[in-house]
Amino acid sequence: MALSPRSGLVSLAGRPNVGKSTLLNRLVGAGLGIVSPKPQTTWAVVRGILTEPRGQAVFVDTPGLHRPLDTLGSLMVSAARRALDQSDLVFWLADCRAPAAETLAEAGRYLGKKVPALLLLNKVDLIAKPLLLPLIEASAASGLFREIVPVSALRGDNLDTLLDLAFRDLPPGEPLFPADQLSESPERDLMREFIREKVFLNTREEIPYASAVRIEFVKPEENRLLVGAVIFVEKESQKGILVGKGGEMIKRIGTQARLRIQGLVGMPVFLDLRVKVRKNWRTDSRSLSEFGYRV
Ligand code: GDP
Ligand code: MG
Repeated sequence: MALSPRSGLVSLAGRPNVGKSTLLNRLVGAGLGIVSPKPQTTWAVVRGILTEPRGQAVFVDTPGLHRPLDTLGSLMVSAARRALDQSDLVFWLADCRAPAAETLAEAGRYLGKKVPALLLLNKVDLIAKPLLLPLIEASAASGLFREIVPVSALRGDNLDTLLDLAFRDLPPGEPLFPADQLSESPERDLMREFIREKVFLNTREEIPYASAVRIEFVKPEENRLLVGAVIFVEKESQKGILVGKGGEMIKRIGTQARLRIQGLVGMPVFLDLRVKVRKNWRTDSRSLSEFGYRV
């Protein structure tokens, strides 16, 4: 039976630690293809691509969902929603041990009606099967999801079923990326995302949401890569926090981001990271697009 191929963007969403990276590694393998995002996915960072005869699933990250959801500012919530709305399918991951009410309330804040979503109840290897039933029932009753799929990303349980369902729900279409493009060198968008991730991990309260990153230059030298970047915040006080006592905070963020970029490019990286103030950048559409936000 010849089926027309299906292809599209699959957003990976869910709290930190639910198993998104583990799942991705399982699905697309360690040799993760990283490519620059297509223009219509300004928001998204492509994390991996699965190409099969039946189609292509392009897995994208959901910006704004890196932090515990209850601490998100409204800008990030709407950013995450918009990113989800721009994908063709959502994999909403949850730890199957988390309370159903919590999982469903969170998913309800982000999922619209436009894009089909599958609920992946991950880490089923950690609990007894009968304990899953109430969660599956409650999730089905919520009407948020097209399917509820218990999986173990770690052990690989039920991933075949997951992919069958995913390819069924992706729209018909040719692959978005040619197979030979999968090892294209990473771009500024990815570096920016890494720096932003480290700001998110190291700071609290309003700082993550007041921070935007602009990559100033990427210069290959003989045996290292020079990268210049600026983190913009909205106020002097935020700059003070981000720089930290004696520059301690910005050094830590810079080191972590540098290691991440190094892992990506496979050569030593020198990261020149600065902090500047741009008042009210979050409400200025020129600044927003300059910093990679779709406006
Ligand atoms: P992410 O933050 O959503 O990307 O989560 P990670 O993929 O980094 O996983 C967080 C932790 O959960 C890691 O220690 C994983 O090994 C573990 N983990 C992920 N999936 C499973 C699973 O199916 N079963 C078990 N037992 N552990 C898992
Ligand atoms: Mg992860």
